[in-house]
Amino acid sequence: EEEALIQSEKLSVVGQMAAGIAHEIRNPLTSLIGFSKFLKTKINSYHEYFDIMLVELDRINSIVQEFMALAKPQANQFRRHDLVKTIQSVLTLLETQAVINNVQLVASYDAESAVLLCEENQLKQVFVNVVKNAIEAMPKGGTTRIKLDSSDPDTISVAITDQGIGIPEELLPFLGGPFFTTKESGTGLGLMVCYRIIEGHRGKIDLSSYPGIGTTVVISLPKNG
Ligand code: ADP
Ligand code: MG
Repeated sequence: EEEALIQSEKLSVVGQMAAGIAHEIRNPLTSLIGFSKFLKTKINSYHEYFDIMLVELDRINSIVQEFMALAKPQANQFRRHDLVKTIQSVLTLLETQAVINNVQLVASYDAESAVLLCEENQLKQVFVNVVKNAIEAMPKGGTTRIKLDSSDPDTISVAITDQGIGIPEELLPFLGGPFFTTKESGTGLGLMVCYRIIEGHRGKIDLSSYPGIGTTVVISLPKNG
């Protein structure tokens, strides 16, 4: 048992270092992205090279962001937050990406507010990751519905349903494993981060998918953290 404890302490040092590195990468990365975009507007040739640079920088950005979501800065700081507001701010954040991809984000809430004890930034990252996956699953566009249900006395659930390509049944067991991706420029970290964060909130994630029809991800969270 003592050995297990030492092992977990070692892991947490490695985890802390990784989180520190991710944090340090973020600022220089932001300036690289900014200046690449700027140069693209100033230079009239080589646009295809700038586009490749921007796609690759964006990929690094996603990895760093998803990684940082795993890092706990201190002990978890659970506070009371309104999940309706959290979801609304995530949808605002993703609106541009949705429009570009011809996707309509349609949200419905069964109450004006749905307060729960949580780490709001972590939950934001979960909804960003899941809604992004929904958008990315619909290359020809479509509708993604986000439905919040707080009618249960103990649990708030949020269902995200897309009309995308779906997930073949034989791949379901791999979802949420680190670096599992079927996308050309995916990180394969998004769902893993979601599972970790929701586990940290003592909630659960249920995923059901019908290839060619779409996917539903249901996130259930206890109201009292
Ligand atoms: P990434 O998005 O970087 O590939 P994720 O961990 O977010 O990594 O997702 C892992 C894989 O799960 C995706 O590559 C995709 O194959 C599958 N997936 C996740 N969500 C959906 C969805 N809504 N529709 C279809 N496939 C999905
Ligand atoms: Mg993803």
